[in-house]
Amino acid sequence: MATDYYAVLGVRRDASQDEIKKAFRRLARELHPDVNPDPKTQERFKEINAAYEVLSDPQKKQVYDLGGDPLSANGGGGGAGGFGAGGFGNFSDIMDAFFGTASQRGPRSRTRRGQDAMIRLEIDLAEAAFGTTKDIQVDTAVVCNTCSGEGAAPGTSAQTCDMCRGRGEVSQVTRSFLGQVMTSRPCPQCQGFGTVVPSPCPECAGDGRVRSRRTLTVKIPAGVDNGTRIQLAGEGEVGPGGGPPGDLYVEIHELPHSVFQRRGDDLHCTVTIPMTAAALGTKCPLETLDGVEEIDIRPGTQSGQSVPLHGRGITHLRGGGRGDLIVHVEVTTPSKLDAEQERLLREFSKLRGEERPLGQFQPGQQGLFSRLKDAFNGR
Ligand SMILES: [Zn+2]
Ligand SMILES: [Zn+2]
Repeated sequence: MATDYYAVLGVRRDASQDEIKKAFRRLARELHPDVNPDPKTQERFKEINAAYEVLSDPQKKQVYDLGGDPLSANGGGGGAGGFGAGGFGNFSDIMDAFFGTASQRGPRSRTRRGQDAMIRLEIDLAEAAFGTTKDIQVDTAVVCNTCSGEGAAPGTSAQTCDMCRGRGEVSQVTRSFLGQVMTSRPCPQCQGFGTVVPSPCPECAGDGRVRSRRTLTVKIPAGVDNGTRIQLAGEGEVGPGGGPPGDLYVEIHELPHSVFQRRGDDLHCTVTIPMTAAALGTKCPLETLDGVEEIDIRPGTQSGQSVPLHGRGITHLRGGGRGDLIVHVEVTTPSKLDAEQERLLREFSKLRGEERPLGQFQPGQQGLFSRLKDAFNGR
């Protein structure tokens, strides 16, 4: 006899099956080719596999203890005589030692969580400012009423798969440089579920869910903005096999307003007034989100100045309070003057001593600069 299998595993001749198993697992992890690809180690790895194959199988162990070598006797392992249930145990032990997968095996569930769904919702500026309640149509998968998500036709039920006996996977033993290796793959008959549905539900074709259109009432909080997503837990797609539904996200799309431009929670608009009104002051009615308000243009207002209406903007989504409404004033200079108007303006300029004004040159184009600065500061 060439090989001392007990010495290979480092156990005594009277070692129990448990001790043999432990010794093998320890060595298998240590010498696994993925951990240690050195050819000498691989040779040793083959040896411990052979030793364990013999010593873990009571029949082969008996042959070996009596002086025979069960591996050379039946052609290098496996083979007609010694390859029974015990042999399978042996190979699963090898797999367990490598991958530690034993506890995770088993059929996969037909029931899985459904996906999240998303729907776009258009709202106008006032709805964004104050919040609203909307009815929306949603098209999602829902649990099939006919089979209650089971997937089986009424009066029938899923049955244990006879190919894998409910395990959901089938095993195959192949020979490789390591000796014999058992590989598992999902059962082709039941796709890994461990059960088959002989007569699928006619309503959902066995999926356990059907598509359906529902109306949902969604509360839109004040202060939402373009791209804000409102999560409705459990209103998404029901999963395969009637599995728990995902969530539904309502994504807000704010429609542009004809007068106001939104920047953060502030609103901006521009009012154009004639030069005379800017000089003398005036009041302009403005349709705000809160109704008509008078904009007070003070006498001597310059083009580019702004009038803020505090608290007339969008409600802050967090923390309450509201942004401002900022009215930017643009002053227009009269062009086409008739004879009388021109005469009066000349008179006016004479009174002001402005017939030949020198003009004031400002360094760095201050007017344009301050307007740009305002734009950057979001005012
Ligand atoms: Zn069904
Ligand atoms: Zn199966």
